[in-house]
Amino acid sequence: MSGITSPASEARVTDGEGPSPSTRVMDAEGVVLVECTGRVTVFNSQAAAHFGIPVPLHIEHARLPGCEWVREDGTPLPPGDSPLARALAGEPVDASSWHVLRPDGTRAALRCSAVPVRAGDGQVAAALLRTQAAEGVPASVLDATRLLAEAGALLGTSVDAEARLEPLLKLLVPALGEGALLILRTPGDSALRVAASLHADAGRHALLRDLLTRYPPDPSAPEGLPQVFTTGAVGRLPILSEAHVGAIARDAEHARLLRELGPHGCLSVPLGARGGVLGALLVLRSNVLRAFGAEEERFLTELAHRTALYLENARLYREAREAVRQRDEFLGIASHELKTPLTPLSLKVQLLQKQVVVLAREGKDVPTDRVADALDVVQRQVRRLSGLVDNLLDVSRITAGRLRLELEEMDLASVAAEILYRFSAAAAQAGTELGLEAPVPVVGRWDRLRLEQVVTNLVSNALKYGAGQPVVVSVEARGPLARLTVKDHGIGIAPDDLSRIFERFERAVSDRHYGGLGLGLYITRQIVEAFGGTVSAVSTPGQGATFLLELPRGDIPEEWLVAHAAPGPTGGG
Ligand code: ADP
Repeated sequence: MSGITSPASEARVTDGEGPSPSTRVMDAEGVVLVECTGRVTVFNSQAAAHFGIPVPLHIEHARLPGCEWVREDGTPLPPGDSPLARALAGEPVDASSWHVLRPDGTRAALRCSAVPVRAGDGQVAAALLRTQAAEGVPASVLDATRLLAEAGALLGTSVDAEARLEPLLKLLVPALGEGALLILRTPGDSALRVAASLHADAGRHALLRDLLTRYPPDPSAPEGLPQVFTTGAVGRLPILSEAHVGAIARDAEHARLLRELGPHGCLSVPLGARGGVLGALLVLRSNVLRAFGAEEERFLTELAHRTALYLENARLYREAREAVRQRDEFLGIASHELKTPLTPLSLKVQLLQKQVVVLAREGKDVPTDRVADALDVVQRQVRRLSGLVDNLLDVSRITAGRLRLELEEMDLASVAAEILYRFSAAAAQAGTELGLEAPVPVVGRWDRLRLEQVVTNLVSNALKYGAGQPVVVSVEARGPLARLTVKDHGIGIAPDDLSRIFERFERAVSDRHYGGLGLGLYITRQIVEAFGGTVSAVSTPGQGATFLLELPRGDIPEEWLVAHAAPGPTGGG
């Protein structure tokens, strides 16, 4: 190609020689000359400034790297409609206003003209694009100080943290963008939920809600999530292009909703407090001509930080309040429980005292059987009292991390038999049949007293909540694990309560019907976990409950693991 000229411009290039000396441009004018092959022969520094990119050597499909031509409303132009593409297709483009989204997310409003450059044979050989910065789009006037003060006043007036989040978004919409949303992480979980969302346009508000309800943020699909959740960093999406929709839409309906919401740019900042990221604050803007600036990013980051601190403080406050409530409730139950055995105890002692005085006055001996009866009652109530006090002491030991175990080799089946023997009198009195299925010894290394305590808790609960129906304890070995189950046919436990009852002070019955501190299962779980095991419950309400204990057998001789793993198919007899 040599001596290509264009009648409509003064551009003239000679093959291989770079820009022609006759290329005359104004100082502030960007000049780009691109051959049909994509080779960039002219790209002056002004053009580099206008498009915000370094000088490219080669481009494909008339696209300047990292740049996107957009309409005034921010929607991307079809690739063939840009002035460069049109000129390469042979169509001159008169000077007019165009908008370009640059790789750094900022926009440029440019006055562009473009002409095809034809070779001697009349074929288009190149396109010449001239650009001038158009009048700047007015930057947003962000009154950050006022907005932060308003946010502070809003957040500070309520202890109900989440109720304040939507009003908070109202401060940002439409001042900062057309839409905003706040996504929170569920504590102790990777799950995310949208705590508040808002769009300035009523129709789009409903659409945004619909979209977020039907397609909630999914932590298992990280490409659809704002950057803050994957890297913890501030994220800027200049505009949601068709390519983005394709990448994040989970199905055709999702893509349709995203498109219907319209192309928005997004600035997302982390809700960071005390070293953790609680979630993210996102502002959506449909007008890319007002790309998010550094000042807006700083403001939003600060606002998100304050919001996170507020949410965190509100959570700590709620937890403290709940702890105080639990403590008060516990003190009420504990004093009632401690008082319950004290009443018969002191009545019995008073009665005995009176009888002794009367009999002594009459010069008679005190009948031993009456004394023995009274002492029996006294003994029972003292045992009950010391059991309650032991539980309380255990809880404070566990809380302080002072639960010490002294491991020794023992047989779980014998431990279970011993505990059932201790309960046999009480069970007989209540008419409850107690059974043990433990065909072989199950040896492991455990702390004897603590293991007895665990089995005692489970068996005493089975008797207490077992409605007089038979209770069966089974012990078996499963390789390196020992298993103990306690099965009753009593009142059972509702599904929602099954995991809660292992927490401190948690009960699933009313204290009017059943006494108790709600500590037995908590202590049980703590001990079992200290052994490296698990305890769980299954139940059908009204038909009974089965508690399953699984304990690692620890460092015991190999033969115990093999020889007594389980009764053989013929050995069960
Ligand atoms: P407490 O028996 O003193 O209330 P626990 O920690 O031993 O405390 O048990 C917690 C709760 O679990 C009980 O209040 C009861 O609601 C429920 N529970 C425990 N064992 C059983 C059982 N075998 N059947 C039905 N409910 C049970």
